[in-house]
Amino acid sequence: MPGFELFGDAERKEVNDVLDSGVLMRYGFDGMRQGHWKAKELEHAIQSRFDVKHAQLLSSGTAAVSLALASAGVGAGDEVIMPCFTFVASFEAILMLGATPILVDIDDTLTLDIEAVKSAVTPKTKAIMCVHMCGSMGDLDALKQICDAHNLFLIEDACQAIGGTYKGKALGAIGDLGCFSFDYVKTVTCGEGGVVITNNKEFYTHSDQFSDHGHDHQGSDRGAETHPILGYNFRISELNAAVGVAQFSRLDEFLAIQKKHYTIIRDELSSIEGVTFRTVPEGGEESYAFLNFFLDDLETARKVSQAFKTNGIDVCFHYFDNNWHYIRKWDHLTTQKSVFPLSQEVKEGLSYLKDRTFEKSDHFIGRNLSCLIKLSWTEAEVKQRALTMAKLICEVTA
Ligand SMILES: *Cc1c(COP(=O)(O)O)cnc(C)c1O
Repeated sequence: MPGFELFGDAERKEVNDVLDSGVLMRYGFDGMRQGHWKAKELEHAIQSRFDVKHAQLLSSGTAAVSLALASAGVGAGDEVIMPCFTFVASFEAILMLGATPILVDIDDTLTLDIEAVKSAVTPKTKAIMCVHMCGSMGDLDALKQICDAHNLFLIEDACQAIGGTYKGKALGAIGDLGCFSFDYVKTVTCGEGGVVITNNKEFYTHSDQFSDHGHDHQGSDRGAETHPILGYNFRISELNAAVGVAQFSRLDEFLAIQKKHYTIIRDELSSIEGVTFRTVPEGGEESYAFLNFFLDDLETARKVSQAFKTNGIDVCFHYFDNNWHYIRKWDHLTTQKSVFPLSQEVKEGLSYLKDRTFEKSDHFIGRNLSCLIKLSWTEAEVKQRALTMAKLICEVTA
């Protein structure tokens, strides 16, 4: 991460195709577009790379998560189980549908704790949302079992783990629906964008129609199309999709760089006493977008984080003290600061958060440092960075 570090001629060429024809919209204008259908082209590339039947490009990853849930019929009165360590988009996407987010603990995979998920299932639960945070995945077999036992949908938020795999399958392609973000700081970027992937034709049709005001997308006269369902506008523009076409074609190149840089740093840190690494579920391979490791306790993690900052080691996050990724700082959610009135049902549904604690997650997030792996580093820079990180950790823990 992030793909923008390696913008080049490929991205420019794709964007120029769109500017040359002047058709910035993904639908219609067949005569003017000189054969360019960038959004469709990117959808096809995504389908074939991840071996899924359907892909619906959207304006953001947050839209993708919301539409994945909506397409499976999740809405008012339903509960969705999600992790308390994720990006705020997870609960935003659920709340937008009038459903209730049920936050549960994470474990040393930094994703959903299986026992916590089991105890959170109620008759209102409709879906489990697994967020593959920082390049690695949840225990998908265990989650599938829970879903099968209780007739729930499994939604994968793979926004931070594009290219990772589990038992030979692409992350995002394993649950009922999967989501990726192509925002500016993700491994593959469109500037802004996202995608829902699924093998379920009905869910795909829902996301295709819902994302464009309910349009049925039949024929070539938009004005004459019918609207089988109520919809909204979550369309991506051709300009954004064009950037994505070029970036997505470079995914394997990006993943190889991430793995190389990740491995250099990990090898350097792995001999340090007091450093352990996140658990990757059996059969899983990370996307190597981040290197995550644990220190002995919260105080040590805070000191190492500070030492990194003051010694030029950037992009290493201590999420325990971060406003955007962990429940501890989400007072806007716990105190329900909405600009518009939430339904009574959602208000009551969220009230558990007022006194709920997440000790198990505190134990892992408090001790975790999550280091972004950049694509633009030279090998010499990565080696120097690894040595500096090791030295600083040793100094703090000595
Ligand atoms: C980035 C991200 C999103 C949201 O994507 P946007 O395209 O920024 O809306 C959702 N979930 C996770 C885990 C993310 O990292």
